[in-house]
Amino acid sequence: MSYPALRQPKNLKFNEKSKTAVYNEPQNFLIVTLKDGKKLVVSSDTYHGILTAGELYRCVFCETEMARDVICKERHKASENHRKILEGYPHIDEFKENLLRKLSASGHYCTVCNVVVMTNYAYRHIEGYSHQVELDKAKGRALSYKPNC
Ligand SMILES: [Zn+2]
Ligand SMILES: [Zn+2]
Repeated sequence: MSYPALRQPKNLKFNEKSKTAVYNEPQNFLIVTLKDGKKLVVSSDTYHGILTAGELYRCVFCETEMARDVICKERHKASENHRKILEGYPHIDEFKENLLRKLSASGHYCTVCNVVVMTNYAYRHIEGYSHQVELDKAKGRALSYKPNC
């Protein structure tokens, strides 16, 4: 189980020049329309529950990991298997625009922040500052969002 977003441990070694790989990952966004007509725009990866974990991508819904490769990731998101599984985790009405999906009895996935939060902390999470900031961004994007069609 994952816990609320933890900061990366700091193990900086200044003489080893930044080993952090630079990933060129264009973000696609998509629009989520709520039952009350409110709109939010979130990144496609976030919507699909794709987390980055070092050199891997992890799908929180399928509980699968794949190479950190844009093609693998897009193929996963488009796969029928993933889409079916994702349908089994709808955004819960109770949380409205906060876009939480229930993963299990102990965890929820926050589509706004792209994190897994413990169920006990779900309310604290959505009232938290960082969630509010992300939510405002998602709402702000909706004001200027133009689908490419
Ligand atoms: Zn998946
Ligand atoms: Zn959140």
